[in-house]
Amino acid sequence: MKIPVGMTRDDIVALHRAYVWPPYTSADEHATRPPLVIVRAEGAWLEDADGRRLLDGNASWWTSALGHRHPRIVRAIAQQLESLDHSAMADSTNVGAALLAKELVDVAPAGLVRVHFSDDGSTSVEVAVKLAHQYWAQNGRAARTRFVSLGGAFHGDTLGAVSLGSVDAFRKVYGPLLFDVMHAPDAGNDADGWERLVEAVEAELTRDGDHIAAVVVEPLVQGAAGMRIWPASLLARLREATRRADTFLVCDEVFTGYGRTGRMWASQHADITPDLLCTAKGFSAGTLPMAATLATERVWQGFSGGSDRALMHGHTFCGHALGAAVARETLAIFRDEDVLGGVLRKQQLIARGFARIAALPGVLRTRCFGMIGAADVGAGGYGGRNGWRVYDEALARGACLRPLGDTVYVTPPLNIADAELEQLLAVLHDAIAAALG
Ligand code: PMP
Repeated sequence: MKIPVGMTRDDIVALHRAYVWPPYTSADEHATRPPLVIVRAEGAWLEDADGRRLLDGNASWWTSALGHRHPRIVRAIAQQLESLDHSAMADSTNVGAALLAKELVDVAPAGLVRVHFSDDGSTSVEVAVKLAHQYWAQNGRAARTRFVSLGGAFHGDTLGAVSLGSVDAFRKVYGPLLFDVMHAPDAGNDADGWERLVEAVEAELTRDGDHIAAVVVEPLVQGAAGMRIWPASLLARLREATRRADTFLVCDEVFTGYGRTGRMWASQHADITPDLLCTAKGFSAGTLPMAATLATERVWQGFSGGSDRALMHGHTFCGHALGAAVARETLAIFRDEDVLGGVLRKQQLIARGFARIAALPGVLRTRCFGMIGAADVGAGGYGGRNGWRVYDEALARGACLRPLGDTVYVTPPLNIADAELEQLLAVLHDAIAAALG
């Protein structure tokens, strides 16, 4: 919304500082680091209270797959509001949620046939954890209470998701609250490291498969760890190893799903179907909080046989009618506007842009995959400050490029125009040169 008449940008900042508890920000940082005040957004652009237009270089935390306020999404919300805002999915359903579940199954990796709706990426992961645990608990394998995740994993901020995560910055302080997870050794950006990581998971499944409920992965890209990209052949090996151990593979496609890597799902690069798949972010084109956990028929059947076998999980806004309308329209736009075809073309622009960036002094390493391009501009990891220097330089040049510590990256809306994408890449190039030069 616009700033109300009679108030200024500074009044909004003062309210923010006085009353809001912002994410990932200490009280000291909150008091000193000036926030952007965003008043409007359209397509790939954000606009702040000073009238400054900024390219949304990471699609507002990787969600805005179709750009902001896509006219068809805006219309879908308005139309849905003419009939139903929200009704509890308690012994009832709504038309959009039922239609959406079928449409999602139609585009999911073959074999995923059931959809549980929730609100955000973290909750979609919590549901996967509970489903896996409960499936084994009530189907004769109650000893399967451990999970395996990968070094560098990030799966969200609720406690189950934090248990799976292995980036210290997000989990260290919560250690005493977390459950038992084997975190396979951190592979960083080292190809041999990824091979060793997968060998470690295979060995753990052979050694202790009878106690493992699921292996949980971010397929092919670990986003929060710094846009680390790993090979599809290793994902296929994890599928094979979990199958041999007859335990579950969970693919957390919260970031990688919905075309970010050039296919609808990253799992498809490895030609696999996980037992459980989590989706959020692009699922509602970043417009409304809406998520889903998809399951195979086998998992679903494990919950039949008596009312005491029900999944005891249901959020207030489960299957939200507005969210469902948006998610259905998102799928329709993906079909009608050949969004995935556009990604295949534009990924080449990103690769070219990062080839130039790789040559800049101070850039340690670059990597690209689909509509993701990343560069390490220091060795400080998530706590590094060089990325923030690039961020400031990029803001001054018209792009919002919030870093992951010393990793700077672009994950723009998938339907960003070619010229805008070129502009974004040029801003990042020049911002790195200015910050590190
Ligand atoms: N899983 C992955 C792979 C993510 O990248 C994220 C968020 N960045 C989450 C889960 C959590 O999603 P949310 O913030 O919507 O809870």
